[in-house]
Amino acid sequence: MDEGAFLERAEEAAELIAMHVELGHVIRIISHRDADGITAGAILAGAVARRGGKFQLSIVKQLNDDVIKELAEERKKIYVFSDLGSGSMKAIESHLSDATVVVVDHHPPEMERFSREGHLLVNPVPFGANSVRDLSGSGVAYFVATSLDRKNMEFAYVALVGAVGDMQEIDGQFHGMNVRIIEEGKKLGIVEVRKELRLFGRESRPLRQMLAYATNPEIPGITGDERSAIEWLRSRGFDPDSRYWQLREEEKRKLHDHLILHMIKNRAPKEAIDRLIGDVILSPMYPEGDVRHEAREFATLLNATGRLNEGTTGVAICLGDEGAYRKALRMLDDYKKEQIEARRFITQNWGTAEELRHAYVFYAGGNIRDTLTGIAANMAINSGLARRDKPVIVFADSSEGDGTIKGSARTTERAVEKGYHLGKALKKAAEMLGGEGGGHAIAAGIRIPRGKMQEFTRIIDEILDEQLRGGEE
Ligand code: C5P
Ligand code: C5P
Ligand code: C5P
Ligand code: ZN
Repeated sequence: MDEGAFLERAEEAAELIAMHVELGHVIRIISHRDADGITAGAILAGAVARRGGKFQLSIVKQLNDDVIKELAEERKKIYVFSDLGSGSMKAIESHLSDATVVVVDHHPPEMERFSREGHLLVNPVPFGANSVRDLSGSGVAYFVATSLDRKNMEFAYVALVGAVGDMQEIDGQFHGMNVRIIEEGKKLGIVEVRKELRLFGRESRPLRQMLAYATNPEIPGITGDERSAIEWLRSRGFDPDSRYWQLREEEKRKLHDHLILHMIKNRAPKEAIDRLIGDVILSPMYPEGDVRHEAREFATLLNATGRLNEGTTGVAICLGDEGAYRKALRMLDDYKKEQIEARRFITQNWGTAEELRHAYVFYAGGNIRDTLTGIAANMAINSGLARRDKPVIVFADSSEGDGTIKGSARTTERAVEKGYHLGKALKKAAEMLGGEGGGHAIAAGIRIPRGKMQEFTRIIDEILDEQLRGGEE
């Protein structure tokens, strides 16, 4: 990608924001409620505060016409959207025409740039980046923040927590501009990268849970079965109750070797074996054993706050609030438990999934929370329920009881190479069915009225078919 041109755009955004700070305007920040969005919002808020400006920040589930209209009623001078906005550029142009708008995002954008003066898109995709590998929303926020003030390099670790939350290093290593953030963080001494076990739980979970909770990748015969994890560990000389961070380096290596051998013996797919050991981001700013010490655990903690509409607690944690951290720790256990439950549900009920020519559609009703559909769809792929070259779409009833269903589509690099673009497909389906949809090629979301499920199933297969035949953008 053209990093230089992208950084110039980030610089422009910083100048716009700085100008409004100077004028004494409140910087209105709106960010997405997952780990990437929470970290992006925190970085922007922190940068505005360092500059001596005022900000007002909201963490939202998704941007749509209604949310944008409500924001317009606030009549702010400047709106900064992060980790969202690129899919709503036309709506932003029409409802926020009088205000300055900066979209700090990495989703494939509706248009390469805004046509209106005073509206600025900072997004690496038009500069040639892959939206799910090369930079996350928090990373874009980081480059805007460091353009405002080089001191904001202190947010390098927080930016990488967002990247890990979005699984930018799913194949075991970081790519694109994420690498630049790592280098800057290392130079400051606040980021460390090690080749370690890339599973959730390095700091806070005993090994038996770290293995039994492994879903990305799964460990055959161990994932979802804590008793077999205990036995597996004991028979290889590990204490199931110790934590990964407590192991000596040679013990870690021994564990890695045993795990890889186990994966090979159990015919795990090559992709799964490759991503088991790889880049793990740590920060010496926090002690070993602290959830915030490792980026994946930190990201999961932030996700746990976001889905309970406590995203601003997550933002506070990123800005160093100890009380917020302690409060959020209480949300983490339930979140992890629900993920395990979701896996059990989808595994036991996969027989009800409808297999189309180009996708699997699974309806979970009220059995999986609508914030966990994306994780559930990835679980169907990682556990081998679904073929790796066929997208999975998991639907659940809206938790708001508004008569809608929420769907998450997930797939693999292999399917994207065949020609599927899930973000475009769901955007199109939503437009046809009176809902909202969009996202990346490999991961996307949709919300539609519950009664439209059948129709969705019919049209999505046609849309995906057209994509493979190259007939549709
Ligand atoms: O896919 P999504 O962003 O919704 O995932 C949210 C969080 O859940 C991420 O932090 C990811 O690491 C975690 N996750 C997981 N197991 C999966 C998929 C995601 O623990 N199979
Ligand atoms: O909104 P946003 O960009 O933050 O979320 C990206 C989503 O894509 C996350 O849920 C992440 O877990 C998912 N993802 C995925 N597979 C990848 C990369 C990202 O499911 N290879
Ligand atoms: O909601 P879910 O986690 O399934 O979303 C996957 C990806 O699709 C995320 O990056 C999310 O921001 C994006 N998305 C979108 N527009 C929507 C719904 C989801 O861009 N209406
Ligand atoms: Zn993101």
